[in-house]
Amino acid sequence: MSAIKFVSITLIILLSCNLLGFIISLLSIHVKSLHKYRRQDKKINPSIFYNRLPLILFNISLLCIISAIGLYFFFPFFDNSLKFSFLIVFSQLFIILFVDDFFFYFLHRWMHQNKYILKKIHRIHHKATAPFALEYLYVHPLEWMLGYTGPFIGIISIGVFTDSLSVWAFWIYMIVRNIHELDVHSGFKSKLGKWIPFWGENEHHDIHHEKLDGNYATTFTFWDWIFKTKMKK
Ligand SMILES: [Zn+2]
Ligand SMILES: [Zn+2]
Repeated sequence: MSAIKFVSITLIILLSCNLLGFIISLLSIHVKSLHKYRRQDKKINPSIFYNRLPLILFNISLLCIISAIGLYFFFPFFDNSLKFSFLIVFSQLFIILFVDDFFFYFLHRWMHQNKYILKKIHRIHHKATAPFALEYLYVHPLEWMLGYTGPFIGIISIGVFTDSLSVWAFWIYMIVRNIHELDVHSGFKSKLGKWIPFWGENEHHDIHHEKLDGNYATTFTFWDWIFKTKMKK
C-alpha cells in the first residue's frame, strides 16, 4: 500500500465519523422524542449549536490537513503489507488507546489546574455544559493539536520496539476514538459503555461538562480512580 492510499483511507474515516457526528447532533437537537434519553434535562437551544458550527468546521478542516501531512511522513513507521493478525492488531490498538488516554488525562487535568490555560484555551470547550455530539471539536485549535500528541507517542513507542506497526490497529483506533468522542459528547445516557469495565461511558464525561471538575480521562475511567479525581453522579 502506498502512503497516499494510507492517508486517503484515514481521511475517509475522519470525515465519515464527523458526518455521523453532524447527523447525531441534528437529530438530538431537532427530534423532540429523543430528548427524554438525554442525561441532563437542560432546555435545548438549537441556535447555540449553529453558532458553534463555524469553529467546529474550521477544526475539522485543519484536522484533515494536519493529519494528511503528518501521516504522510509517519507512513514509514507502519507495516504497509495490510497483513491482519488479530493478536497484533488488538494488542497494538490497546497500547495506542492506553498511552493516548494516559497522556490526555494529565493534559486535561493540567488545562483545569492552570487557570491561565483554562481561561484562554480550555474554557471554550466548556461553554458546552450540556454538549451535542459534534461539540467534541468545539475547542481551541491548540487544544486538539496538543491532544493529538498522545496517540503518536503510542505509535512511535510501538514502531521503535517492533517492525510491524499495523495500519489496521491505527484505523480501528481512529474509528473507536472518534466514535467514542461523539458518544460521550452526545448527551445521551449510556447504553453499551456502562457494561464494559473501566470504559469511559457517556455519564463520565457529561458530568465533567456539567460540573467543570474531575473525570479528566476520556477513553477509560481507571485513571480517575487511581488519581482520585473521579466525580460522583
Ligand atoms: Zn475539561
Ligand atoms: Zn468534552
